[in-house]
Amino acid sequence: MKIVLQNLTKIFPPRGKNTSGEVVAVNNFNFEIPDGKLIGLLGPSGCGKSTTLYMISGLQKPSSGKIFFGDDDVTELSTENRGIGLVFQNYALYPHLTVKQNILFPLQNLKGKDKLDKNTMLDRAYEAAKLVQIEQLLDRKPSELSGGQQQRVAIARALVKMPRVLLLDEPLSNLDARLRLQTREEIRRIQKETGITTVFVTHDQEEAMSISDLIVVMKSGVVQQIGQPQDVYDDPANLFVAKFLGTPPINVFSGRVSQGMLYIGTDAVMKVAGVADQEVTVGIRPEGFHLDPNGTLCCKPVNVEVMGRDVSIVSTHDASLNPFVRSIINADHRYDIGDSVRYTIKPHKIFLFGKESEERIRIEVNSDGRK
Ligand code: ADP
Ligand code: MG
Repeated sequence: MKIVLQNLTKIFPPRGKNTSGEVVAVNNFNFEIPDGKLIGLLGPSGCGKSTTLYMISGLQKPSSGKIFFGDDDVTELSTENRGIGLVFQNYALYPHLTVKQNILFPLQNLKGKDKLDKNTMLDRAYEAAKLVQIEQLLDRKPSELSGGQQQRVAIARALVKMPRVLLLDEPLSNLDARLRLQTREEIRRIQKETGITTVFVTHDQEEAMSISDLIVVMKSGVVQQIGQPQDVYDDPANLFVAKFLGTPPINVFSGRVSQGMLYIGTDAVMKVAGVADQEVTVGIRPEGFHLDPNGTLCCKPVNVEVMGRDVSIVSTHDASLNPFVRSIINADHRYDIGDSVRYTIKPHKIFLFGKESEERIRIEVNSDGRK
């Protein structure tokens, strides 16, 4: 089921007497979510992810704009009639019911022509439990389950109605690191097996990048960029997106373009064809540095961190906008770091942004496809 968001906007009115101003939680969101895909809705806390999800679910009404499931306009449709499955961060299971009763609950509430007989309901509940691999826990109460198992029950409960659309709001936030990793792979597997169009909300860029077909990066209610995770990482539209994706994060410098040459501080780093003279902000991915005695970017090393496969050289540079510059170099060789370390920069790992606008400034591409 494809989902179309058309000029979707949510404005919350000011609250109380002393609070000033309305909150534009979601601002003119346009997107067609392709059928059967998993979409990662990504951004910092408060950027409007949940509000977007709640509007898709019908829990909140848009201030303006429309939502379509397939060709059906569902904007005015109630949550119960949208055919969605919802999973929240706090599993929200009924504590006095067993796992089986929790999963059955949405089916028992079906009315009229959707009503199912008892055996069909039990079969469906068992199938859903099997999908999330908790079929051996059906007779337990939620308090007798780990966090990860509880979240699986919540997912089974969302799947049991065979929803057209699965909506997950930070479903892994309450799990410890290892379980989070495992459960996100499970969610991906289940999504692929069922082919249900899924929107997955998270503030964790790595989580979104690792399981999504497409990611949508939001900031202050406004969509910044939509694309396949690798494409967005490799080709960020603006400084915010560049900084939000990637661990360790991108290195940011203040720089200047003068007569086709990019300067970072006094270092003439590289030629940048087709860019007018101006002040710029420069982003360099940690994997974008080559150690090179004749390199054009000169940093002062502080520390070398061994990470097994790679080493990370931590250094400083006067024009760096972060306290440290972090480069990731493979550990095939041993490095003796002296008073300074010189780098050449991989052309596809460096991005220029307008100093004020923070929008990407494109560097002209040569015929070999590189900048
Ligand atoms: P996210 O899920 O990305 O953390 P939300 O969608 O929950 O963000 O919130 C987006 C913005 O809308 C925030 O500024 C938040 O304070 C505001 N907001 C969310 N829900 C309400 C509400 N019911 N009333 C007023 N403001 C709200
Ligand atoms: Mg939220």
